[in-house]
Amino acid sequence: MRLSKYYVPTLKEDPADAEVVSHKLLMRAGMIRKLTSGIYNYLPLGLRSVNKVAQIVREEMDRAGALEVLLPTVQPADLWQETGRWDYYGRELLRFKDRHDRDYCLGPTHEEVITDLVRGEIKSYKQLPVNLYQIQTKFRDEIRPRFGLMRGREFIMKDAYSFDKDEEGAEKSYFDMFGAYKKAFSRIGLRFKPVQADSGAIGGDFSHEFMVLAETGEDTIASCKSCEFAANLEKAKVVVPDGPDMTAADCPAMEEVATPGAHTVDEVCAFLSVTPDKLIKTLLFVVDGRPVAGLVRGDRELNDVKLRNLVGGNEIEFADEALVRKLTNAPVGFAGPAGLSKDVPVYADSELKLATDWVAGANKGDTHVRHLSLGRDCEVAGYADLRVIEPTDACPECGGEIEFTKGIEVGHVFKLGLKYSEKMEATFLDENGKTKPMIMGCYGIGVSRIVASAIEQNYDENGCIFPPSIAPFEVCLISLGGKDQDVADKAEELYAEIMQMGVDAAFDDRKERPGVKFAEADLIGYPMQLVLGGKGLKNGIIEAKDRKTGEKIELPLDNFAEAFAAWRKRIWNNWGLETN
Ligand code: ATP
Ligand code: MG
Repeated sequence: MRLSKYYVPTLKEDPADAEVVSHKLLMRAGMIRKLTSGIYNYLPLGLRSVNKVAQIVREEMDRAGALEVLLPTVQPADLWQETGRWDYYGRELLRFKDRHDRDYCLGPTHEEVITDLVRGEIKSYKQLPVNLYQIQTKFRDEIRPRFGLMRGREFIMKDAYSFDKDEEGAEKSYFDMFGAYKKAFSRIGLRFKPVQADSGAIGGDFSHEFMVLAETGEDTIASCKSCEFAANLEKAKVVVPDGPDMTAADCPAMEEVATPGAHTVDEVCAFLSVTPDKLIKTLLFVVDGRPVAGLVRGDRELNDVKLRNLVGGNEIEFADEALVRKLTNAPVGFAGPAGLSKDVPVYADSELKLATDWVAGANKGDTHVRHLSLGRDCEVAGYADLRVIEPTDACPECGGEIEFTKGIEVGHVFKLGLKYSEKMEATFLDENGKTKPMIMGCYGIGVSRIVASAIEQNYDENGCIFPPSIAPFEVCLISLGGKDQDVADKAEELYAEIMQMGVDAAFDDRKERPGVKFAEADLIGYPMQLVLGGKGLKNGIIEAKDRKTGEKIELPLDNFAEAFAAWRKRIWNNWGLETN
């Protein structure tokens, strides 16, 4: 590709709305342009990177035996009504009507559509297993689209869905995808980590997220310094230290105390001269329409995903002000376990068993209670692990030390079980002629998010530093010909030679100043730069620069192809990659 005939609209300044480095650099390097909030145009260079990511993902899916399909982006509401998701998917689902007043949505994911397809086609165990995937545009009306390609409203995803006849097969499908993801992300050149993720009502360890480790990540990963344990914060188990059950231990009679103006945990603690670990925080939620209360110690954070899984439901939200008033008979901020409406089951974090004599809300304005005993003064429906893990907690698997890191979720593998096949009656006849629902799995990869993630991991003050496997072009050949026809001619010759080798190269044959060319090559982040100037030509050499390390070496012109191939191999290997 000749830059003189290409379109690379680079920008000198960072765009005002760009908060993270990948967003800034994708814009500045002329790879994307914003159309409207969370919706982007992919320009020629940007699209090349996206396509390279997609191709690696495609190859690894094919290798794992998945078959590529392409499903519609427009989906009829009735499929979503069959699974119930039309009601509870919420406002991320963009809905609209056609001319006949029928309801549709833009696909944020394709479980319904794929299950509908497969139930119509597959009837016998002999046709299973099957794994279908697509690489396609998704639409999610994200509440906070931001960070450019990282959290768009429209984005490109690879989604695969497996259908199996038994548990054993479903497990194999899951781990085949797990393996394919590891291969794909390694080939892309990402530093990543698979972590245990929440699998909702399904339980077990059949959900993993693949996290790219980067400071700007929106997710937090808890991982062990000694063993392999790594989990998304919302999933990470907390192991409560052993200790006697204190719920029935002696405790002075519970009494109300006026706490005027004290709302937060800190304010109440200051007012009553106690530390937050002596206080119970009572949080009111609604899970699929039913109210539920969760209790944690004042110095802890309640994990709503754990609470939702405990009561068994799909959607958990904070109770709104009206409901809080109804359940507590008090303004917001004074809920407590004693005297709460009988309509609310109360679940407590296991840690609360280890002590008594608590301070808590009194379900009365400006009032708290002290000397509360959970065993005596209220009804607790159950004790369970309900809190968010903290860096001071022990590793739930080996007892070792935990550390927190930030990550960007680039992929997700998930065993769905019978969730969709039962509701949508995707069944088959087994070996004995019995009708059974298929066991499903779903597997997503954020193709466009990966391009942004790769930049978050690899950049410097001059611009992007692309891994060679997904760079828009692997190498940029810069001709400093200017008016020197000999240099220009030799550069043409070298460009032809590189193309002959099947290496995809950008050829900077423009009549620009050298400084402009160098800065632009750095900004775009081609992993390799070759610079031919008058002096080099005279001395029979061309300068070769490794964008990542900045190392410059000279390659001989008379044996160029061989020397270039060897250098290129070295660059790829330094990225931990194999040349193709
Ligand atoms: P997140 O927690 O980041 O919202 P998710 O759990 O909603 O992600 P999935 O439904 O598992 O994501 O989608 C599969 C993959 O699609 C994710 O792993 C991620 O890489 C990508 N993805 C999800 N939402 C977006 C988005 N708004 N913009 C770009 N990529 C996305
Ligand atoms: Mg999401």
